[in-house]
Amino acid sequence: MTEREDDFLAACDECGAVYAATETEAGRILPLGSRGGCQCGSTSFSQVDSRDLDESDDDS
Ligand SMILES: [Zn+2]
Repeated sequence: MTEREDDFLAACDECGAVYAATETEAGRILPLGSRGGCQCGSTSFSQVDSRDLDESDDDS
């Protein structure tokens, strides 16, 4: 049994590409489809909520 219920969407901090991702035990966000990092070479990602994908930056 390997349920991936902690999968989420993450966006590259550099180019903004969005990947399905998971968080490692070390707390690192890792894209499921590209374990080596983003296509742009970045390995820094931020979790995003799918509801936030349309450019609204509502922090409140
Ligand atoms: Zn990128």
